[in-house]
Amino acid sequence: MSQEVEQEIDVMHGLRTVLAQIESAVSRRSKDLPQIYPRLVAVSKIKPASLIVQAYEAGQRHFGENYVNELADKAIDPLILEKCKEIKWHFIGHLQTNKINKLLSSPGLFMVETVDSEKLADNLNKQWQKHRKDEAKLKVMVQINTSGEEAKNGIEPLETCTLVEHVLKNCPHLEFVGLMTIGQYDYDVSKGPNPDFITLAKCRQEVCDKLNLDINNVELSMGMSSDFEHAIELGATTVRVGSNIFGARPPKKA
Ligand SMILES: *Cc1c(COP(=O)(O)O)cnc(C)c1O
Repeated sequence: MSQEVEQEIDVMHGLRTVLAQIESAVSRRSKDLPQIYPRLVAVSKIKPASLIVQAYEAGQRHFGENYVNELADKAIDPLILEKCKEIKWHFIGHLQTNKINKLLSSPGLFMVETVDSEKLADNLNKQWQKHRKDEAKLKVMVQINTSGEEAKNGIEPLETCTLVEHVLKNCPHLEFVGLMTIGQYDYDVSKGPNPDFITLAKCRQEVCDKLNLDINNVELSMGMSSDFEHAIELGATTVRVGSNIFGARPPKKA
C-alpha cells in the first residue's frame, strides 16, 4: 500500500467500529467466564506516529508493537511524547536478551506479553530494577504456543504452570498478569470454537487450580483483527487488533 493511500485511512472510524464489535461480543460471552471488560491493544506496527496520535486523540491508550527497535523509536518520537502523554505500550513480539535494556528504557512501556522462558523472566526481573521510576512491578504475560507450530514462539501448554510459578516465586519485580497466544492464522470458525483459544483458557484454568490463583486476576490475551470477537466470546480479556484500525499492512515477504 502506498504512503498516500495509508494516510487516507480513517483511524477513528476503524477504532469506533472495533470498539462497537467488542461491546457486542461481550454481550454474547458466557456468564460463566470472568466478567472482565476486554482491553483493546491497538497494534501499530509499521504504521507512522501520526496514525498513533489519531487513535490516541480518539481515546485509545493501549498500543502494541512487536519489534523492540520500532517500539523504542516510537516511544521517544517527539510527536508521541508531546501528544500521547498517557500512552501504554505493550510489547507483543519475540524478545531477545540483547534488546531487553532498550525495551525497558522506553517511556510508557506498560506490559511485556511475550515471556517464554525462565531465562527471559530472570533477565527482565533483574534489569527492570534499573529502569523503573517507582516501586511498580513490570507487568508480564507468559506466551504459550497453543498451535504447536514450529515458527511460533511461546512455551508448550504443558509448561505453563512451571513458568508461571517461576515468575511468581523468583521474580519479585515482575507482576504476572496473564497468558498470551498468537495461534494459527486463518482458522475457519465454521469448524467450531478456535482450538487455540480453548487451549489458552484451559492453561489458565490449570494455572489457577495448581497455583491457587483467582481466575479473575489472570488475563487471556488472544484474538486479532480476523477473530477478536470470537476470542472475546471464548474469554479474551485483551485483544490485539492492528489492520482493522490502521488499515492493511503490506504482505510479509516470503
Ligand atoms: C500484528 C500482530 C497483531 C495484529 O494483527 P492484525 O491482524 O493486524 O490485527 C496481533 N498480535 C501480534 C502478536 C501481532 O504481531
